[in-house]
Amino acid sequence: MATDTMLKFVGREQAYPAKRDAADRADDFREIADRYAPPAAEDQAGRCSQCGVPYCSVHCPLHNHIPDWLRLTAEGRLREAYELSNATSTMPEICGRICPQDRLCEGNCVIEFTGHGAVTIGSVEKFITDTAWEEGWVEPLVPGPARGQSVGVIGAGPAGLTAAEYLRANGYEVHVYDRHDRAGGLLTYGIPGFKLEKPVVTRRVDRLVAGGIVFHQGFEVGRDASLDELRSRHDALLIATGVYRARQVEVPGHDLPGVVESLDYLTASNRKGFGDNVPEFDTGALDAAGRHVVVIGGGDTAMDCVRTAVRQGAASVKCLYRRDRANMPGSRREVQNAEEEGVEFVWLAAPQAFEGEGRVERVRVRGMRLGAADAGGRRAPEHDPAGDRDMPADLVVKALGFDAEELPRLWGAADLGVTRWGTVLVDGRTLMTSLDGVFAAGDIVRGASLVVWAIRDGRDAASAMHKWLKAEARSRKVAA
Ligand SMILES: Cc1cc2nc3c(=O)[nH]c(=O)nc-3n(C[C@H](O)[C@H](O)[C@H](O)COP(=O)(O)OP(=O)(O)OC[C@H]3O[C@@H](n4cnc5c(N)ncnc54)[C@H](O)[C@@H]3O)c2cc1C
Ligand code: SF4
Repeated sequence: MATDTMLKFVGREQAYPAKRDAADRADDFREIADRYAPPAAEDQAGRCSQCGVPYCSVHCPLHNHIPDWLRLTAEGRLREAYELSNATSTMPEICGRICPQDRLCEGNCVIEFTGHGAVTIGSVEKFITDTAWEEGWVEPLVPGPARGQSVGVIGAGPAGLTAAEYLRANGYEVHVYDRHDRAGGLLTYGIPGFKLEKPVVTRRVDRLVAGGIVFHQGFEVGRDASLDELRSRHDALLIATGVYRARQVEVPGHDLPGVVESLDYLTASNRKGFGDNVPEFDTGALDAAGRHVVVIGGGDTAMDCVRTAVRQGAASVKCLYRRDRANMPGSRREVQNAEEEGVEFVWLAAPQAFEGEGRVERVRVRGMRLGAADAGGRRAPEHDPAGDRDMPADLVVKALGFDAEELPRLWGAADLGVTRWGTVLVDGRTLMTSLDGVFAAGDIVRGASLVVWAIRDGRDAASAMHKWLKAEARSRKVAA
């Protein structure tokens, strides 16, 4: 029975531990580091064959020097391994935890190709930098000599934080604006704490604050300032606002009480994990405890929702996806994790309506089958009446992915060029938008993507902005 399996593996206290003080947090970090005890990391690192064709590095968006830091780890030279790993990434311990390694570095490990299982690159990366924090090897952010120029970064997610760090190190005054009360973007309020412990994100942000980056939390561009106002405050701007317009399920009953958005659900859970007062959670509106939960969608956000519901103590958790397992967009590893925790996957099923008296009580399910392939070669789902049925549900979470918000309209910036999907257009070489001195990076440029790509984009944007700002400073000097 699914519920028994769930309870065996996970518990509510794991999702919402009691609020921790500074001494507790130090213990937390020690415990996090202990979980990846040195012999395991060194043994794993020693499995790297130093194959000379580092497909792992090629397929890592940051082109991390993986074989080199694996060799240093295997030799016990952890500090050097950390320094090398840190040279290409602003958040190695975060990527080590949440990159879909099976699709990136580990999926392209030569040892994996020989059928012996990839070196667990992500967990070694995590271990190296957790150890560096523990040992005090992580250096403070030291600003470069002041240049007298200032940069505004809109969005404190991984793209914005990465760019802010590199720009500050280059001597710019850096201000980060974010509409949330905490920095981190989806690292803080999207990705659940059981995948990415929040103190790990907080210590990164604290380091940036100590390095003189000024954070303006609770500051929403479009409400608290227009884009033009921010442009007049800074010499250059970076837009790194991510994508937040939830795709809708346009079926009857989609707005019934008990039918909720994935990000509202995950944010409430993450806030609870921080020890915040979260009335929507406490009233039960966004708490799955004791509920029959149905999550709609087949991507990684849906996986985070089902696994959160299990930890909240749901009575049952089902995931409805209109294609089959082989055509699911979510990571295979995540599906397997969810199944092991007791989640039931209902393949070839889509919602037809959400029904109930005053709040959702059931999902009318439309059976699907895979029809002819579309232009992209993907078989399109079509209705299969044999699969129609009702499914009891008292909490439905819609997790169909996200598109870009309409920034030109919301920000009163009609000249900001966007694609037909609403993502911000940048020049591929300069990374500048259609507005002079305004750059963009991360999901708002690529569409919903990955943390490691946001870091890469933040790194590239910082380098392009630095180049542009230096040229601006030179031309001002000439004009004077
Ligand atoms: C539920 C979920 C789970 C995920 N899990 C993973 C995972 O396991 N691994 C992985 O690699 N990727 C994962 N991703 C994707 C990953 O989180 C994103 O690709 C990444 O965070 C994008 O970074 P970003 O900096 O571009 O944007 P974000 O992280 O979205 O940050 C953007 C920031 O901009 C702020 N902002 C937006 N508009 C404004 C405004 N008008 N004014 C001021 N501030 C504003 C937001 O508050 C936010 O803090 C997940 C995504 C979701 C939704
Ligand atoms: S950043 Fe991600 S892809 Fe690159 S080595 Fe680390 S875990 Fe692998």
